[in-house]
Amino acid sequence: MADEAVLVWFRQDLRLNDNPALYQAAKQGRILPVYILPAAQQDGWFPGAASRWWLHHSLDSLGKRLGGALRLFQGEALELIPELLHQTGIKKVYWNRDFQPAQMQRDRRLQQHLEQQGIQVTTFNASLLWEPTQVLKSDGSPYRVYTPFFRHGCLKQPEPRYPLPAPPSIKTMSSAPNGLSLQQLELLPDSPWYRQIARQWQPGEPGAGDRLASFVEQRLASYQRGRDHPGLDATSRLSPHLHFGELSPNQIWYVARHAELPRACEPDRERFMAELGWREFSHYLLYHWPELPQSNFQPKFDRFDWSDDPESLRAWQQGRTGIPMVDAGMRELWQTGYMHNRVRMIVGSFLVKNLRQHWHRGQAWFWDTLVDADLANNSASWQWVAGSGADAAPYFRIFNPVTQGEKFDPKGGYVRRFCPELAALPDKYLHSPWQAPVSVLKKSGVQLGTNYPRPMVDLKLSRAEALAAFAAIKQ
Ligand code: FAD
Repeated sequence: MADEAVLVWFRQDLRLNDNPALYQAAKQGRILPVYILPAAQQDGWFPGAASRWWLHHSLDSLGKRLGGALRLFQGEALELIPELLHQTGIKKVYWNRDFQPAQMQRDRRLQQHLEQQGIQVTTFNASLLWEPTQVLKSDGSPYRVYTPFFRHGCLKQPEPRYPLPAPPSIKTMSSAPNGLSLQQLELLPDSPWYRQIARQWQPGEPGAGDRLASFVEQRLASYQRGRDHPGLDATSRLSPHLHFGELSPNQIWYVARHAELPRACEPDRERFMAELGWREFSHYLLYHWPELPQSNFQPKFDRFDWSDDPESLRAWQQGRTGIPMVDAGMRELWQTGYMHNRVRMIVGSFLVKNLRQHWHRGQAWFWDTLVDADLANNSASWQWVAGSGADAAPYFRIFNPVTQGEKFDPKGGYVRRFCPELAALPDKYLHSPWQAPVSVLKKSGVQLGTNYPRPMVDLKLSRAEALAAFAAIKQ
């Protein structure tokens, strides 16, 4: 009967397990599972190219797990959902809350409209361990600094909700509007540039589960020691799965919490869980400061003298700056849709400080090319790197990509993988080939300016210029 059925609106929660909206709806009776892709022009943060590739496959996977019952649409949810309810006679709608500013606004309007029509709307938290309104300072204001936010705010709360299983049975409505085919959403580009990316990832809930299991079995115990070394496969690489909600932070939290580890590995467990805390913090900042993706958190940065140089931006994007650690990172991004966290900080610092390009430029490039592009994490992290954010790295702390490379890629495995033209250089010169004697370059087959660029800026000079520009806005 249609009036006992529930429309379940899937958004960034493309999973069956630990999905409270789906779980509760399935208990009620038949469900109509729906996904709505916004029209590109409706949403300033329409998914970038790499995210669209991921979304295509994630929807494909979810559709199969729902036995082909997932209905796909594109357009304005404020119109499509009332229309679907009208066509099917359904009187209940369930969804998991989305804490991004535009989505929250839309959801509030939709909920109000539906409730006025006598439709029952029920929403759940399925994407954050603690809701942003739950964690506040004693004076009722939101935290601005990560450590007190996590230690005194989050960890003093009751433990996060324990994950739910998948619904024991899911009965879907047989008669419902067909919607669009996955192909009609046109998420995949005409030219298959994503082939290389596709080899590294398995979008969808089963892939997310496999990734979590292998991380906990093989890498959690050495996370703290390995996590800063981009040449090692030491982190979880769960970020795209988390972004699309193919698994919940609650599932990761409890799997990590209950993993059997030697006592000496407790710092590894703690450190990993604290990284989930950084994710919470970014989403919390976006909730309380919805301007975070556009505006400097610290307004003094509005006066900063940014440079406008499309050619140097292109060199950065294409990994031809002549600074090996930066180029390796940008090429990793292009080839895999991912970049190691340590290297994101290095390439970010180089763009914003050595090249003095606005952090919006880096944010936009990452938005288009990362498979884990996420409005909260990307915006908060770029502001952190730029020094303009809440609890940011101070502007004057400028990463030196050469010493960073020597410290975190000492044997050069990472740079050699992504900059093969430098592979034969001895470790000593790998991170600064311009310092190698001519004989060493020749023996290694490196011709600076020919098969590998000369550095596009002098690191020392550009650092001094950045500090001078910062001094001008300090007061
Ligand atoms: P792990 O080390 O295994 O960490 C586990 C999880 O914790 C991650 O999957 C992620 O969800 C979360 N996490 C870890 N570090 C951070 C962090 N610094 N901030 C917020 N959450 C974190 N992350 C994104 O998910 N999307 C982005 O668009 C994004 N853009 C970034 C841009 C810049 C300039 C920087 C410096 C960082 C950015 N990050 C972003 C954060 C971080 O780099 C990635 O989350 C991390 O590299 C993902 O790899 P992992 O899953 O192996 O992480």
